Amino acid sequence: MNLRRSLPALLPLVLAATFFAVGTAESGTPKQSPVNVTPNAIRFDPHAPKLDVTYGVSALELKYIRKDADKPDGCTTRDHEETEEAEVEPGSGHVTVAGTRYDLVQFHFHTPSEHQFLGRNTPLEMHLVHRSAAGKLLVVGVPLVIGSHSVVDDVLAKLAPECGEPVDIEPVNLNRLLPLNHHTLHYTGSLTTAPFTEGVEWYLTGEQHVTAATIARFQGLFTAGNARAPQPLNGRTFVEVPRI
Ligand SMILES: [Zn+2]
Repeated sequence: MNLRRSLPALLPLVLAATFFAVGTAESGTPKQSPVNVTPNAIRFDPHAPKLDVTYGVSALELKYIRKDADKPDGCTTRDHEETEEAEVEPGSGHVTVAGTRYDLVQFHFHTPSEHQFLGRNTPLEMHLVHRSAAGKLLVVGVPLVIGSHSVVDDVLAKLAPECGEPVDIEPVNLNRLLPLNHHTLHYTGSLTTAPFTEGVEWYLTGEQHVTAATIARFQGLFTAGNARAPQPLNGRTFVEVPRI
Protein backbone atom coordinates (compact mmCIF):
# COMPACT_ATOMS: atom_id res chain seq x y z
CA MET A 1 0.00 0.00 0.00
CA ASN A 2 1.29 3.45 -0.89
CA LEU A 3 1.18 5.21 2.49
CA ARG A 4 1.48 8.72 1.10
CA ARG A 5 -1.49 8.25 -1.18
CA SER A 6 -3.72 6.38 1.26
CA LEU A 7 -3.15 8.48 4.39
CA PRO A 8 -5.41 11.42 3.50
CA ALA A 9 -8.20 8.96 2.69
CA LEU A 10 -7.75 7.12 6.02
CA LEU A 11 -7.55 10.20 8.22
CA PRO A 12 -11.31 10.92 8.41
CA LEU A 13 -11.88 7.27 9.42
CA VAL A 14 -9.30 7.52 12.20
CA LEU A 15 -10.84 10.75 13.47
CA ALA A 16 -14.32 9.20 13.37
CA ALA A 17 -13.12 6.15 15.34
CA THR A 18 -11.58 8.41 18.00
CA PHE A 19 -14.75 10.45 18.21
CA PHE A 20 -17.02 7.44 18.73
CA ALA A 21 -14.62 5.77 21.18
CA VAL A 22 -15.07 8.59 23.69
CA GLY A 23 -18.85 8.62 23.32
CA THR A 24 -19.61 12.29 22.89
CA ALA A 25 -17.62 15.23 21.68
CA GLU A 26 -17.83 16.92 25.11
CA SER A 27 -16.76 13.97 27.29
CA GLY A 28 -13.01 14.25 26.52
CA THR A 29 -11.04 11.42 28.10
CA PRO A 30 -13.27 8.45 28.94
CA LYS A 31 -14.02 7.89 32.62
CA GLN A 32 -15.38 4.37 32.51
CA SER A 33 -15.82 1.60 35.09
CA PRO A 34 -14.68 -0.82 36.34
CA VAL A 35 -10.99 -0.07 36.92
CA ASN A 36 -7.93 -1.70 38.42
CA VAL A 37 -6.98 -0.13 41.78
CA THR A 38 -3.26 0.44 42.31
CA PRO A 39 -1.71 2.01 45.45
CA ASN A 40 0.09 4.77 43.50
CA ALA A 41 -3.31 6.16 42.40
CA ILE A 42 -4.69 6.40 45.97
CA ARG A 43 -4.81 9.87 47.58
CA PHE A 44 -5.58 10.92 51.13
CA ASP A 45 -7.68 14.08 51.45
CA PRO A 46 -8.68 15.01 55.03
CA HIS A 47 -11.38 17.34 53.63
CA ALA A 48 -13.07 14.68 51.44
CA PRO A 49 -16.73 14.28 52.49
CA LYS A 50 -17.48 11.06 54.37
CA LEU A 51 -19.84 8.34 53.15
CA ASP A 52 -22.66 8.42 55.70
CA VAL A 53 -24.57 5.10 55.51
CA THR A 54 -28.07 4.77 56.97
CA TYR A 55 -29.30 1.25 56.30
CA GLY A 56 -32.25 -0.47 57.97
CA VAL A 57 -34.06 -3.77 57.58
CA SER A 58 -35.77 -4.77 54.34
CA ALA A 59 -37.49 -7.74 52.79
CA LEU A 60 -35.98 -8.42 49.37
CA GLU A 61 -37.13 -9.66 46.02
CA LEU A 62 -34.37 -11.41 44.06
CA LYS A 63 -34.92 -11.08 40.31
CA TYR A 64 -33.09 -12.32 37.25
CA ILE A 65 -32.29 -9.28 35.05
CA ARG A 66 -32.71 -10.28 31.39
CA LYS A 67 -30.88 -8.66 28.46
CA ASP A 68 -31.82 -11.20 25.76
CA ALA A 69 -35.62 -11.34 25.93
CA ASP A 70 -35.77 -10.87 22.15
CA LYS A 71 -33.84 -14.10 21.46
CA PRO A 72 -35.65 -17.45 21.07
CA ASP A 73 -33.06 -19.24 23.26
CA GLY A 74 -32.89 -16.34 25.76
CA CYS A 75 -34.26 -18.35 28.69
CA THR A 76 -31.27 -20.70 28.62
CA THR A 77 -28.55 -18.35 27.36
CA ARG A 78 -26.58 -16.28 29.87
CA ASP A 79 -25.89 -12.83 28.45
CA HIS A 80 -22.79 -11.33 30.10
CA GLU A 81 -24.77 -8.23 31.15
CA GLU A 82 -27.42 -10.29 32.95
CA THR A 83 -27.41 -10.69 36.71
CA GLU A 84 -29.29 -11.55 39.90
CA GLU A 85 -30.65 -8.35 41.44
CA ALA A 86 -32.17 -7.85 44.90
CA GLU A 87 -34.75 -5.07 45.09
CA VAL A 88 -35.11 -3.38 48.48
CA GLU A 89 -38.21 -1.83 50.01
CA PRO A 90 -38.38 1.92 49.25
CA GLY A 91 -36.95 4.00 52.09
CA SER A 92 -35.14 1.08 53.73
CA GLY A 93 -31.65 2.44 53.12
CA HIS A 94 -29.80 5.53 51.94
CA VAL A 95 -26.37 7.15 51.99
CA THR A 96 -25.51 10.84 52.29
CA VAL A 97 -22.41 12.55 50.87
CA ALA A 98 -21.81 16.30 51.34
CA GLY A 99 -25.51 16.84 52.07
CA THR A 100 -26.83 14.91 49.05
CA ARG A 101 -29.00 11.91 49.84
CA TYR A 102 -28.91 8.83 47.60
CA ASP A 103 -31.58 6.16 48.19
CA LEU A 104 -30.69 2.48 47.93
CA VAL A 105 -32.65 1.03 45.01
CA GLN A 106 -31.20 -2.44 44.44
CA PHE A 107 -28.05 -4.49 44.70
CA HIS A 108 -26.70 -7.09 42.27
CA PHE A 109 -23.72 -9.32 41.65
CA HIS A 110 -20.93 -9.95 39.14
CA THR A 111 -18.55 -12.88 38.69
CA PRO A 112 -15.64 -12.51 38.70
CA SER A 113 -15.33 -9.10 40.37
CA GLU A 114 -15.43 -6.16 37.97
CA HIS A 115 -12.97 -4.02 39.95
CA GLN A 116 -9.47 -5.35 40.40
CA PHE A 117 -6.99 -4.61 43.19
CA LEU A 118 -3.37 -4.81 42.00
CA GLY A 119 -4.64 -6.67 38.96
CA ARG A 120 -6.39 -9.34 41.02
CA ASN A 121 -10.08 -10.26 40.92
CA THR A 122 -12.21 -11.65 43.72
CA PRO A 123 -14.73 -14.42 42.88
CA LEU A 124 -17.76 -12.12 43.23
CA GLU A 125 -18.50 -8.39 43.53
CA MET A 126 -21.70 -6.85 44.92
CA HIS A 127 -22.95 -3.46 43.67
CA LEU A 128 -25.32 -1.50 45.90
CA VAL A 129 -26.97 1.06 43.60
CA HIS A 130 -28.23 4.35 45.06
CA ARG A 131 -30.01 7.21 43.29
CA SER A 132 -30.44 10.86 44.32
CA ALA A 133 -33.64 12.86 43.80
CA ALA A 134 -31.88 14.54 40.85
CA GLY A 135 -31.17 11.12 39.32
CA LYS A 136 -27.43 10.98 40.10
CA LEU A 137 -26.07 7.49 40.77
CA LEU A 138 -23.78 6.33 43.60
CA VAL A 139 -22.65 2.70 43.72
CA VAL A 140 -21.00 0.97 46.67
CA GLY A 141 -18.85 -1.88 45.34
CA VAL A 142 -18.10 -4.76 47.72
CA PRO A 143 -15.56 -7.46 46.78
CA LEU A 144 -16.73 -10.89 48.00
CA VAL A 145 -14.26 -13.57 49.03
CA ILE A 146 -14.59 -17.15 50.32
CA GLY A 147 -15.06 -17.30 54.07
CA SER A 148 -17.65 -17.87 56.75
CA HIS A 149 -21.40 -17.39 56.29
CA SER A 150 -22.72 -13.82 55.92
CA VAL A 151 -26.09 -12.27 55.09
CA VAL A 152 -25.03 -12.36 51.43
CA ASP A 153 -25.39 -16.15 51.65
CA ASP A 154 -29.02 -15.68 52.72
CA VAL A 155 -29.64 -13.37 49.72
CA LEU A 156 -28.16 -15.82 47.21
CA ALA A 157 -29.43 -19.04 48.87
CA LYS A 158 -31.88 -19.62 46.01
CA LEU A 159 -31.23 -17.93 42.66
CA ALA A 160 -34.09 -16.56 40.58
CA PRO A 161 -34.53 -18.35 37.23
CA GLU A 162 -34.12 -16.34 34.03
CA CYS A 163 -37.68 -17.13 32.95
CA GLY A 164 -39.69 -17.65 36.10
CA GLU A 165 -40.80 -16.19 39.39
CA PRO A 166 -38.60 -13.89 41.51
CA VAL A 167 -37.49 -15.21 44.91
CA ASP A 168 -38.93 -13.58 48.04
CA ILE A 169 -36.37 -13.18 50.83
CA GLU A 170 -37.15 -12.69 54.51
CA PRO A 171 -36.19 -9.26 55.95
CA VAL A 172 -32.43 -8.77 56.28
CA ASN A 173 -30.36 -6.14 58.08
CA LEU A 174 -28.86 -4.25 55.14
CA ASN A 175 -25.90 -3.09 57.29
CA ARG A 176 -24.71 -6.69 57.39
CA LEU A 177 -24.16 -6.64 53.63
CA LEU A 178 -21.18 -4.35 54.23
CA PRO A 179 -17.80 -5.44 55.62
CA LEU A 180 -16.71 -4.52 59.16
CA ASN A 181 -13.81 -2.50 57.69
CA HIS A 182 -15.03 1.11 57.25
CA HIS A 183 -12.47 2.32 54.69
CA THR A 184 -13.67 3.07 51.18
CA LEU A 185 -11.99 4.31 48.02
CA HIS A 186 -13.93 6.90 46.03
CA TYR A 187 -13.57 7.60 42.32
CA THR A 188 -15.87 8.80 39.54
CA GLY A 189 -16.71 6.36 36.76
CA SER A 190 -19.61 4.88 34.84
CA LEU A 191 -22.23 2.16 34.64
CA THR A 192 -20.53 -1.15 33.76
CA THR A 193 -23.35 -2.23 31.44
CA ALA A 194 -24.90 -0.44 28.45
CA PRO A 195 -25.35 2.50 28.05
CA PHE A 196 -22.15 2.93 30.20
CA THR A 197 -23.34 6.36 31.39
CA GLU A 198 -20.58 8.35 33.13
CA GLY A 199 -20.83 10.54 36.23
CA VAL A 200 -21.40 7.58 38.59
CA GLU A 201 -19.84 8.04 42.06
CA TRP A 202 -18.14 4.78 43.11
CA TYR A 203 -17.17 3.83 46.67
CA LEU A 204 -15.16 0.59 46.85
CA THR A 205 -15.16 -1.10 50.26
CA GLY A 206 -12.96 -3.76 51.84
CA GLU A 207 -13.76 -7.44 51.43
CA GLN A 208 -16.93 -9.12 52.66
CA HIS A 209 -17.08 -12.90 52.98
CA VAL A 210 -19.47 -15.53 51.66
CA THR A 211 -19.32 -19.30 51.69
CA ALA A 212 -17.73 -21.30 48.87
CA ALA A 213 -21.13 -22.91 48.23
CA THR A 214 -22.72 -19.54 47.45
CA ILE A 215 -19.91 -18.58 45.09
CA ALA A 216 -20.21 -21.95 43.35
CA ARG A 217 -23.99 -21.54 43.03
CA PHE A 218 -23.65 -18.12 41.39
CA GLN A 219 -20.79 -19.18 39.13
CA GLY A 220 -22.79 -22.27 38.20
CA LEU A 221 -25.48 -19.98 36.77
CA PHE A 222 -23.10 -17.53 35.03
CA THR A 223 -20.56 -20.06 33.76
CA ALA A 224 -18.98 -17.59 31.32
CA GLY A 225 -19.02 -14.73 33.84
CA ASN A 226 -21.04 -11.50 33.90
CA ALA A 227 -18.34 -8.87 34.45
CA ARG A 228 -17.00 -6.05 32.32
CA ALA A 229 -13.20 -5.90 31.90
CA PRO A 230 -11.26 -3.10 33.67
CA GLN A 231 -11.16 0.19 31.76
CA PRO A 232 -8.27 2.71 31.53
CA LEU A 233 -7.94 4.97 34.56
CA ASN A 234 -6.92 7.90 32.35
CA GLY A 235 -5.34 9.89 35.18
CA ARG A 236 -8.18 9.43 37.68
CA THR A 237 -7.28 8.90 41.33
CA PHE A 238 -8.91 7.17 44.31
CA VAL A 239 -9.58 9.14 47.48
CA GLU A 240 -9.70 7.34 50.83
CA VAL A 241 -13.08 8.08 52.38
CA PRO A 242 -14.30 6.71 55.72
CA ARG A 243 -17.76 5.15 55.91
CA ILE A 244 -19.71 6.28 58.96
ZN1 LIG B 1 -22.91 -3.92 38.65
